[in-house]
Amino acid sequence: MRTYTTFSTLRTPQTEVIPLEDQVENNAGGFVYKLDDFKALERFLVLGSEGGTYYVDERNLTKENALRTMRAIQLDGKRAVDLIVAVSDAGRAPKNDPAIFALALAAAAKDPATRSYALLMLPRVCRIPTHLFHFMTYVKQFRGVGRGLKRALGDWYNEMPVEKLAYEVVKYQSRDGWSNADVLRLSHPKTADPIRNAVYKWIVDGWQLEWTPDTLPPVVGAFERCKIVKDVTREIKEFNLSREMLPTESLTRPEVWEALLDKMPMTAMIRNLGNMSKCGLLKPLGDASRLIVDRLHDAEVIKKARIHPIAVLIAMRTYASGKGMKGKGEWPVIPAVVDALDDAFYLAFEQMEPTGKRLLFGIDMSGSMLGSRYPGGYISDLPCGISPAEGAAAMAMACIKLEKEYYVMGFAAEFRDLGLTSKMRLDEAVARTQTRTFGRTDCSLPMQYATQNKLEVDGFIVITDNETYAGSVHPSQALKQYRQKSGIDAKEVIIGMTSTLFSIADPNDPRTLDVAGFDASVPAVIGEFLGK
Ligand code: CA
Repeated sequence: MRTYTTFSTLRTPQTEVIPLEDQVENNAGGFVYKLDDFKALERFLVLGSEGGTYYVDERNLTKENALRTMRAIQLDGKRAVDLIVAVSDAGRAPKNDPAIFALALAAAAKDPATRSYALLMLPRVCRIPTHLFHFMTYVKQFRGVGRGLKRALGDWYNEMPVEKLAYEVVKYQSRDGWSNADVLRLSHPKTADPIRNAVYKWIVDGWQLEWTPDTLPPVVGAFERCKIVKDVTREIKEFNLSREMLPTESLTRPEVWEALLDKMPMTAMIRNLGNMSKCGLLKPLGDASRLIVDRLHDAEVIKKARIHPIAVLIAMRTYASGKGMKGKGEWPVIPAVVDALDDAFYLAFEQMEPTGKRLLFGIDMSGSMLGSRYPGGYISDLPCGISPAEGAAAMAMACIKLEKEYYVMGFAAEFRDLGLTSKMRLDEAVARTQTRTFGRTDCSLPMQYATQNKLEVDGFIVITDNETYAGSVHPSQALKQYRQKSGIDAKEVIIGMTSTLFSIADPNDPRTLDVAGFDASVPAVIGEFLGK
């Protein structure tokens, strides 16, 4: 008889496939579900592949995601492009580069209808010249520059209102090996509008002696004058110049930053808190700090600026540290500004509603979540390597903000209270995940813990990289067991923190949902899913 007691359909070690389920091996040697191609594309668009993961290096992760993106495009080109536009346009991702990369892949699809649809959507994804320059780099990795692409590039310049175009091309002239002049030389847009023509001429050949101030939109003249005049503040105020338009040496003077701050876009403002502090503009109890604090509390402004919550977290962490990169300058940290950034983080998410449900959070605290990986590199010269575990804590904070019944635990080989409360400041909550690792990864622990302790849970939220392998039962089996023992038909949300192609969420369980970590729509989506 003993022979037949070794096989169970209810409990399967994570290193084996659940009987008859369509599962694949993850990078840690466990078996999990495969994300469908569009879910995988969505996760890539939000998380990107920069920095790789604990298990997969950046190059291979990029390749995996590029292949998955190509498959989604091949399956349904229009659906893939619509998804790219949706994620990019709503500002759901911390960075726009994955969307630009994916759109470039779509613009090189085999299917001509997909190609032209992708190019039609170019201005929706590439909204400023810098985006367009990155698109040029990527698209040339996938196709030649034919007539269709040239027309789309020309239209990009021709269809932008001329005042806005002038502002954008003065602000973003060149980046990463491409310039507006390069793109114009390639695309040769034709226009009957003399002012637009002059803008093109200025881009390619520079300022012409015979021009008067009326030949071009005034921002171009203001930019040219700033190269020679001493007092740039008048030009900044009158023509709404941005810091990118000014000579570098002027950016150490407080009066210049003061003039810039007046109309500074939100993203620039939070990225330059350190610079404004170093030059002496931003100081305790000052006018500038009051203005910044007010603006960070303005929900409308934050929404309109498409500012991403993770960008706020990075700004907060950098500013609160009181010093710039490589010891370049220190500044007094103003508590009211840090508090305002804390509030702005929550305002930057899409509309949040409390679910009113009993929620148990499990944050994966295994070693693979602790490396400083995402988003990798630098934002505005400041390091922003947020580990998946830190990102997970930030997402949990966003989800519990409006909730009354929640419990946030960390897990790996065991399940432990992280002591997170909705009243805690964000940087403090994030810091709780920085150093500790709880051992081998077992994503079934939240459900098992609830079963063993007879907790009443309406929704499990498991935040993980899906590299689970150590448990004697799969997470989906532990969830079934919880439902059966508790009599509660609990739902489950998996927040994936790395752009792997895996999920522990059973795709055939309609009460389970997989979402991408760092997606600004996550609390709203979870609220909608769990609140019903
Ligand atoms: Ca792990």
